[in-house]
Amino acid sequence: MQNYKPDTLCIHAGYKPGNGEPRVVPIVQSTTYTYDSSKEMGDLFDLQADGFFYTRIGNPTNDVVEKKIAALECGVGALLTSSGQAASLMAVLNICTAGDHVVSSSAIYGGTFNLFYKTIKEMGIETTFVSPTSTREELKAAMRENTKCVFAETLANPSLIVADLETFAEAAHEHGVPLIVDNTFPTPINCQPFAFGADIVVHSTTKYMDGHAVQVGGVIVDSGKFDWQNGKFPALTEPDESYHGVIYTKQFGPAAYIAKVRCHLMRDLGAQAAPMNAFLLNLGLETLALRMERHCSNALAVAKYLEADPNIAWVNYPGLESSPYYELAKKYMPHGSCGVVSFGIKGGREAATRFMDSLEMASVVTHVADLRTCVLHPASTTHRQLTDEQLKEAGVPADLIRLSVGIENLEDILSDLKQALAKSVQ
Ligand SMILES: *Cc1c(COP(=O)(O)O)cnc(C)c1O
Repeated sequence: MQNYKPDTLCIHAGYKPGNGEPRVVPIVQSTTYTYDSSKEMGDLFDLQADGFFYTRIGNPTNDVVEKKIAALECGVGALLTSSGQAASLMAVLNICTAGDHVVSSSAIYGGTFNLFYKTIKEMGIETTFVSPTSTREELKAAMRENTKCVFAETLANPSLIVADLETFAEAAHEHGVPLIVDNTFPTPINCQPFAFGADIVVHSTTKYMDGHAVQVGGVIVDSGKFDWQNGKFPALTEPDESYHGVIYTKQFGPAAYIAKVRCHLMRDLGAQAAPMNAFLLNLGLETLALRMERHCSNALAVAKYLEADPNIAWVNYPGLESSPYYELAKKYMPHGSCGVVSFGIKGGREAATRFMDSLEMASVVTHVADLRTCVLHPASTTHRQLTDEQLKEAGVPADLIRLSVGIENLEDILSDLKQALAKSVQ
């Protein structure tokens, strides 16, 4: 499968039905699987054999989708989770315990920021937030003896700041720790972080991967490239007593990380994806490449239109030459970034509210990356827990409107924006 192009992988990777088997990936709505002997079952429980035994740990429908996403990211394995939040949490917890430290870009999704700033801190894992434009020296200065990973978002939601992945990866590797990248916005169609040194990728599959707003989900993907045997990751290189002394790096080789997150954390935390959701996600993935192309061409046209409108204070889209991230976007996402454009209307908060209320086709929802054009004001919704200072640090000024450009006809999208803008500047 690795030889197929991404748009072909979207359709075919992970599933090749045999003679007389269903053409479409079946939904295996079963918690459990039968075996002829207790020895066979016991071997599965001891991780000495490959197979399904309980849907919390693995399910045939989920397995197809995991293989498809791993193929799209060019990784060695993947694990579906119940949400993007669960993916980020488990990706970090797989290698960090109380007393450890994380270095994270400050330009990350609001939910991830809260997770790092508060929740895992309460669990004893401290995070140092650094500027997304940090130099290698600045990143190096943020590292501590107990730093176990570096975290960044390829294209931050909603600030659209592009992380310099190579700089983050080099700094992480110099310190002997992996780079975890949230690649939700570009999707593997527009950026493959493993090619730039990232070691682990997470996604909220709720966004473009699904694309139809029908399921909340996440995924963790392992590049298989990080060498865990440098003394910093005993959980991967020393016996796990809960599996009769299995050593993940010995038993699973390059897939040690993804095997551990499945066998250990998913077993204990139970944030697995439902097979029905995996099925729905797979339908979305089949058209991902096609949809991303349209999202990107529509968004670039909308961004250019807004930039030329005198009622618009500023426009932020990495595909615009005026963007400070234009060059980085060209490097990491040469075929386009995503469908999200952010901008501010002259007249501040009130004008923004009138604009949002006047849209006819675009819907006001707490969602992005949907095939329907939708719009949101983060400072009053997703990011409302953050102080003004934190908002600025996260690259989300109070007047920012996040427009998620859908795949409708461009003329219809533009005329909706035009009529709403005319009403907003009255
Ligand atoms: C939405 C989102 C998340 C969280 O995902 P959920 O599926 O909503 O839990 C994480 N990262 C990014 C970039 C997102 O856009």
